[in-house]
Amino acid sequence: MTIHQQDFQAPRDAEPTRIEIPAQRAQRAVPPLPRPVPRPVPVPVPLRPGHRFLVYKQDPSVTALGARLAFLPTVVLNGPMDARVQTELAQVTPVARNINGDFVFAAGTPQFDCAHTFAVVRQTMAMYERHNGGNPIPFAWNVSGNTDRITVFPHAGEGANAFYSRTAKALKFLFFTPQGQRAVLHTCRSLDIVAHETGHAILDGLKPGWLSAGNPPQTGGLHEAFGDITAIFLALAEPDQAEALVALTKANLHDKSFLSELAEEFGKALGMPSGLRNADNDLKLSQVGNEVHAISQVFTGAIYDVLADVYTFELSRQRRTKDPAIVLIETASALCKLVFDAIVASPATGARYVDVANKMLQVSAGRGDPAIYRTFIRNRFAVREITTAATPLRDMLSGRMTMTEPGYTGDGQDVTEVEPRDEHSASLRADQDRSRCCGTMQMPEYQVVAPEKLARRGSLEDDDILRDELDELHRAFSK
Ligand SMILES: [Zn+2]
Repeated sequence: MTIHQQDFQAPRDAEPTRIEIPAQRAQRAVPPLPRPVPRPVPVPVPLRPGHRFLVYKQDPSVTALGARLAFLPTVVLNGPMDARVQTELAQVTPVARNINGDFVFAAGTPQFDCAHTFAVVRQTMAMYERHNGGNPIPFAWNVSGNTDRITVFPHAGEGANAFYSRTAKALKFLFFTPQGQRAVLHTCRSLDIVAHETGHAILDGLKPGWLSAGNPPQTGGLHEAFGDITAIFLALAEPDQAEALVALTKANLHDKSFLSELAEEFGKALGMPSGLRNADNDLKLSQVGNEVHAISQVFTGAIYDVLADVYTFELSRQRRTKDPAIVLIETASALCKLVFDAIVASPATGARYVDVANKMLQVSAGRGDPAIYRTFIRNRFAVREITTAATPLRDMLSGRMTMTEPGYTGDGQDVTEVEPRDEHSASLRADQDRSRCCGTMQMPEYQVVAPEKLARRGSLEDDDILRDELDELHRAFSK
């Protein structure tokens, strides 16, 4: 590996935007002409070219990780643009590749923001495509042969928000100046925020009915949680992040870290020292009413706990045969695939947490995971008051659970179907309160259009949002 972290880290007292990259240095010093070395045997070359991008591993405030080069092994045209994603920034796009065919620009420039946002969107899509058997996942409008791209707007306007819109076929990232500060904060520079919003777009493609506010609050919670879980799994799909995390936490995922803290820079700007959200939380359904953002944290927290449980188990099982960072990457990838498959198998509208939990149990059993995986899943969903406790929680709650026994179930029953803990929970019965959600959940198109209409996929027009009012006007004007 010829790329070293020190190549990209700013000096301690410098602004994070002054990260030096090899291309910049190369422009200063003219290298001597290379002398060709004879190679009698042909060198195999990759089948397809790829490009390097400079990306923040978390965001500009997480200086321990900084920015590094990422390799995207697909063809990317000037824009950046490819077959699924295009970038739009007035007077900047199309951004041209540099002389090496890469999208590497000085951090803090508009060109960097275009390349960074594109790269993180693409990496997020690639992660789920891998879990989808290597097949592309359609956007909600990609029906009947439609191949329209999603457009990424890195500087979509001023505001402390970001959102995905099916009507606009777009991901929009806003920027703002936090109170009492002078520097502008760009949401597009956060891996967590870009991954979160891309997660909304991907889930809208998989489950087009779920974004409608006409669903129970838990369905809205699944959308918000999917965004946050996406950011966590994307970080753990990157070997350098996994290795840094293992070293930082001594392989204890419940230690405070950049993984469980989401959108750190954004959160700090709003006075939240542990990021905008904390995946390693202890919230239960009875504590969150019908407020969708808080409800989402219950699901995210349960998945995070399952991840930590499975990692503890696998680390113990494989500690003599594999590096802990490799075990973490593999554990996270397998859990991400399990969540992905469970969501695909869940109902088209009105999905509840218990539906996804049951599908996770069934998919896990079907693919031959050790029984203790299902015990972790049952326990973590039960302790958060999402499901009934089909097997006793006694061992877990008294800290006596056997974390190393593959067949552990508590009482010998490997149950794969559980019930909702409380059918009358506000998170199932009340209307959705989306007041604290991200910009996506606040879009009128998802507030007004019915789940059944959204579930039919296809493009969404402004008139679809105004349909009821237009029909009313039509009737009034026909009299
Ligand atoms: Zn969101």
